[in-house]
Amino acid sequence: ESVVHWYKRDLRTFDNRGLRLASEKAKSKNVPLICMFIVSPQDYEAHFTSPARVDFDLRTLEVLKSDLQEKNIPLYVATIDKRKDVPGHILEVCEKWGAKHIFCNIEYEVDELRRETKLMKQCLEKGIDFHPVHDDVVVPPGNLASGAGKQYSVYSPWLKAWIKHLHEHPNMLDAAEPPHDNPDNAKTKYKDIFEKSIPTAPPSKAIKDAEYKQRLSSIWPAGEHEAQTRLERFTKEKIKNYASSRNLPAANSTSLISVHLSAGTLAARTAVRAARDTNSSRKLDAGSAGHGTWISEIAWRDFYKHVLANWPYICMFKPFKYEYSDIEWEYNDEHFQRWCDGKTGFPIVDAAMRQCLYMGYIHNRCRMIVASFLAKDLLLDWRLGEKHFMEHLIDGDFASNNGGWGFSASTGVDPQPYFRIFNPLLQSEKFDKDGEYIRKWVPELAGIEGNAIHDPYGRGKGKEAEKAGYPKPIVDHKTARARALERYKGGLGRS
Ligand code: FAD
Repeated sequence: ESVVHWYKRDLRTFDNRGLRLASEKAKSKNVPLICMFIVSPQDYEAHFTSPARVDFDLRTLEVLKSDLQEKNIPLYVATIDKRKDVPGHILEVCEKWGAKHIFCNIEYEVDELRRETKLMKQCLEKGIDFHPVHDDVVVPPGNLASGAGKQYSVYSPWLKAWIKHLHEHPNMLDAAEPPHDNPDNAKTKYKDIFEKSIPTAPPSKAIKDAEYKQRLSSIWPAGEHEAQTRLERFTKEKIKNYASSRNLPAANSTSLISVHLSAGTLAARTAVRAARDTNSSRKLDAGSAGHGTWISEIAWRDFYKHVLANWPYICMFKPFKYEYSDIEWEYNDEHFQRWCDGKTGFPIVDAAMRQCLYMGYIHNRCRMIVASFLAKDLLLDWRLGEKHFMEHLIDGDFASNNGGWGFSASTGVDPQPYFRIFNPLLQSEKFDKDGEYIRKWVPELAGIEGNAIHDPYGRGKGKEAEKAGYPKPIVDHKTARARALERYKGGLGRS
């Protein structure tokens, strides 16, 4: 007999609720714990998972395998080509191992919930207990309700309720201990699993460019130890200034832990607890402004997961605000391509899009700028941008990405009002005052001095930019703004 923990987006041993419960069950029954992870190429395709992210997960699995090995716990990893076969495969191996209990942490996306329901049914038929538990979010969906007893669709009152709930139930932030060691004989019993190597990426998601692969490994070292180190460094050195510097893309002042929260090499609970414990007040909202602000950003992640759990139709390419289903978008391939390549002629936009291609990451302020630019200045369907982000970001996460796009395109939950249209020039001047971020990512503009960097063809007269091969702006912001206002209003009129 054995107990199984099925890993998904929770690739760590520390503070992992599902894993800990599995381990306790195994200990109480005096049987070994076996861990498993399924590589599902069809899920990667369906969810537009970026090669950068697949690579990060596979690198993380190597770390996880060796950490578990130290505890005599085997990590079984298999690639299952068709996703409909995943539950069947899990059951097959679990039966082989004599597993009577399967634990896992819940993922809230529709496909994943359907898969779990299928597995639950099959487990019932076979007499196996299947235990999916809440772990990915700090407060599980369904715990917070507005006065009317409904899920909040506005962030601020939801945040108040989230903080109150955690202050009233501080044990929700307690860490789950790592798993117990397996008995020594597990090493020989599961020798074949211990000896099996981690699979390579499926061909469609493999990184073909060795230099890019190397770069990702050095910018984003994988595994939970790296996540802990980043968290510690951030809470020691940077969090106190976070409130005032988080919007400055050149300042390197944010935590850069999104990939870890997304892959589950770090629990959101661990991050919030670390911020609370280093805050002078030991509270989530009072004390240092930096701590409170950072915690409220992690809370955005929880908020979007609650929204996903409550309104699953957002998984089906539908806007949260269905009254915005009918906006007439432009389908201009050239504009879209220029946006993807960072060649729009708007330096701040191009810097961000090139940062994305280079390192699979964009600073949050710049994500908002480029998203607003795509949906409003170019009037391209925000879903194109949402997909491009998933295909390239290393931290791609459905709920946060969909939430961020909905916010910026004004079609999502608690969005910017549609008439709030970012002016890329003003955003650039305000948040990248000295043009440091632009100069870093758009090297052909590096020689442009002063504030012409924000608008090389307007203020800079364009000679230098032209010589450097930098493109002219592909739209005029004022005209584009007027067109967006009209179309958004028109879309509302039709629905
Ligand atoms: P920090 O500023 O240090 O914040 C700490 C953590 O809080 C982040 O790691 C993240 O988990 C969470 N967080 C911060 N801001 C947000 C936010 N606005 N929404 C949700 N969670 C937040 N984040 C992703 O993790 N994956 C995505 O695919 C993603 N796509 C986005 C798309 C758009 C259009 C926008 C506007 C935002 C998106 N975000 C996404 C949110 C945010 O940009 C990133 O989480 C953040 O930039 C990550 O950097 P950091 O870890 O240094 O963040």
